[in-house]
This record gives sequence, C-alpha cells and structure tokens, in this order.
Amino acid sequence: MTIGKVRPAVASLASYRPGKAASQVEDEHQIEDAIKLASNENPWSPVSGVLQAITDAAMGVNRYADNSAADVRAAIALWLGVDGARVTVGCGSSGLLQQLFIAYVDPGDEVVFPWPSFEIYPVFSTIADANKVAVPLVDFASDLDAVANAVTDRTKLVILATPNNPTGMATPMSDVATLLNVIPDDVIVVVDEAYREFSDPELGDPVVDLLPHHDNVVVTRTFSKAFGLAGLRSGYGVAHPEIIDQLDKVRLPFSVNNLAQAGMLAAIEHEAAAMANVQTLLRERTRMVESLDAAGVVHVASQANFIFIPTGDATESIAVAMEKQGVVTRPFPGFGIRITIGSPEQNNRWLAAFLAAQP
Ligand code: PMP
Repeated sequence: MTIGKVRPAVASLASYRPGKAASQVEDEHQIEDAIKLASNENPWSPVSGVLQAITDAAMGVNRYADNSAADVRAAIALWLGVDGARVTVGCGSSGLLQQLFIAYVDPGDEVVFPWPSFEIYPVFSTIADANKVAVPLVDFASDLDAVANAVTDRTKLVILATPNNPTGMATPMSDVATLLNVIPDDVIVVVDEAYREFSDPELGDPVVDLLPHHDNVVVTRTFSKAFGLAGLRSGYGVAHPEIIDQLDKVRLPFSVNNLAQAGMLAAIEHEAAAMANVQTLLRERTRMVESLDAAGVVHVASQANFIFIPTGDATESIAVAMEKQGVVTRPFPGFGIRITIGSPEQNNRWLAAFLAAQP
C-alpha cells in the first residue's frame, strides 16, 4: 500500500541506513567497549575554545540564528583571502551539495562523478530525477579524461571529491584545471574538499588555483572532519557571487544554526589547536600505513583521515569479524573496507582486529 502520491524518484530510493553505532555492535555481539571507525569522524572533542563558544551560544537558542550567517561568511572570507560575496555556509557540506542540486539540476539533466565516491551524489541525483553518470575510478583514483569525455550538453554538474571517499586518493588541481579547459563553462564543477586538511598541500588549492580563472567552480569544505564539528553541521562553499546567490536562495532557512555559527567562528579563531590534532592524526596514518606494509597488507595511499583496504569478496566477512572484536568499520561489499584513523589506542585496536580477521 502506498499512502499519498509519493514521487517515483523518492519511492525508488532505498531507505537510509546509517552506519552502525558502537552500541548497536555491542548489543549484537554481547561485547563491551566497541569503537566506531566508520564515518571518518575526528576521535577528539572540539578544542576547548570552540567548546566554550558552542556552550555560550546555547543561551541564545530561543532566537533564530542570523540566516545569512554574515559574521561567519566575513570570517571565512578573511581567513581564505577572498571577497565576502564569494562565500556561503551550509548545513554541513552535504547541505551545500543538496542546494547545488536544487538550484541547478532539472529532471533528465546529467550529473557526472567518478565512482565509487561519496554516496550522497547518486542519492541527490535520484531525488532530482537526474541521470547519474558514474565514471569508474582507475587504480582507485578519479579519471579526469574519462570525466571530460562523459560531459554532454545535458550535463549540469560534475562532482569531484578530492581526496575521494572511500578510496582516499586525491586529484592535483592542475588536472582539474585541464578538465575545466576542455568542458563547457556552463557546467558547474564542484570540488568537494571535505578531507582537504589531511591532504598534501602540494596538490594545490582550488580557491587560489581555479576560482580566479573559472567562474563555474564551486569549492565545498567542512568543519566536520579536521575541526571535529561533525555533529554541528557546519560546511562552507566558495564560488562566484552569482552562484553563491543561487545557493543562498534554496538553503533551508536557519539550517546553519546558532551553535554551528558560533562553532565555525571559534574554529577559525582556534585553527592552530585543531591543526595540531590533524598533525597527530597524520602521524597516526603514517604509523598505520607502515604497520600494514610490514604485515604485507595491500592498501590505497591515503590523503585523508581514513585508509581503504581493497578486500574484495572477503570484505563483509572481515568487517563482521572485526565487529565481533568491537571495531566498527565501513565495508563496501565486493570492493573493500574503509577504516577511519582514530586515536593511537583505537588504531592499535583496529590493526590487531583487522589482522586477526583475515579469512
Ligand atoms: N564530502 C565527502 C567526500 C564526504 O565524505 C563527506 C562526509 N562523509 C561530506 C562531503 C559531508 O560532510 P559534512 O556534511 O559533514 O560537511
């Protein structure tokens, strides 16, 4: 039975299944002290200055937030060295991606993205009744020649996650510049940099390298990962003012709430403390890479806060065996397993659990 006339596009979507919580795995396997390394979260609470700002902002939640988040935009613009009219905020960078679909994608339009990548791209494409054009990764990396070839006159969006989730491979901005030079400039190219702070700065900066030369680029970033504010929902975008205007029209009002705005302002102010945590995570990533290499485990060279291990057909059995040891990861059946870099203790646990889980 169907109640109401649900849109066929929405009816066709599988219901959202969030990653398993640690408590769920504890119940399933009658164990204690499970850890969740399934969502690329930061293992640590926000730094104290940010925590204080969020706490202080709670006093004001009887009021709506400033819908335009003017202070946050101004602070981000100053931080990045761009004009304020080129910055907007979103309810996470996922919120900004949703706004891009609402503003630019009509039914029957094409959305091109390397694949496998962030699972929200095909979901938003389906909701928009758009045609998904998934361009296979080559050696776990985005193939931008193939992306360029996939663009047609129906293409509205190209979405490039760099570093890519779930593989962790990053695309140099020089390659994105080459792509931009060969595709029509009325195609919006989204550079999704959710994991930027964990990647090699030598790969370039789209705000500096691309935006001044290409009006059709949108850079999305987030405070969720490196800054540890995933639960606040605090993303931002940088683009031509005309695109920013369109995105602002379609944002759910007040969806970047008072706490998120206070958290973002404080996160910029206390950037150095968050970056010290990022450095610790990068040292941990190196330690885990060396441990996997020493154990002869093939893995993808990660530029993000997670490591992808191509476990192929053994993926699900390894993930379940790790869960029984209290380690929750993100399996991609038939492809591989994605494990978030956590605290040193958590990393010791996942490595031991992974090695013990081999079929
Ligand atoms: N882009 C990519 C590639 C991601 O992996 C994620 C988080 N899983 C996001 C964007 C969204 O992050 P948020 O909405 O928390 O900013």
